Amino acid sequence: MSARMKCLAHCGGCGRHFAGDRAFDAHRRGKGAERRCHDPQDVGLEIKRTDGRCDMYGPEQYGQVIWQTPAVDNPFAGHAEGGQV
Ligand SMILES: [Zn+2]
Ligand SMILES: [Zn+2]
Repeated sequence: MSARMKCLAHCGGCGRHFAGDRAFDAHRRGKGAERRCHDPQDVGLEIKRTDGRCDMYGPEQYGQVIWQTPAVDNPFAGHAEGGQV
């Protein structure tokens, strides 16, 4: 367990930080050239941490909000076998 959550998928477009590619993809909506950033809250993402860090661009930043996809992204959420909808 690391003490701090690190930004794993950084968006150069809006500068937000994401816990993974799925969360990143979720805030990018639209097709082809229409694809653009949306507010993570508007696309159903959740705040994972507010004390994340990011060194994707330049000096490391602390206290960053890291966005995640809802619970299904959490490996500790349980053993979903596809029965629940
Ligand atoms: Zn973005
Ligand atoms: Zn970042």
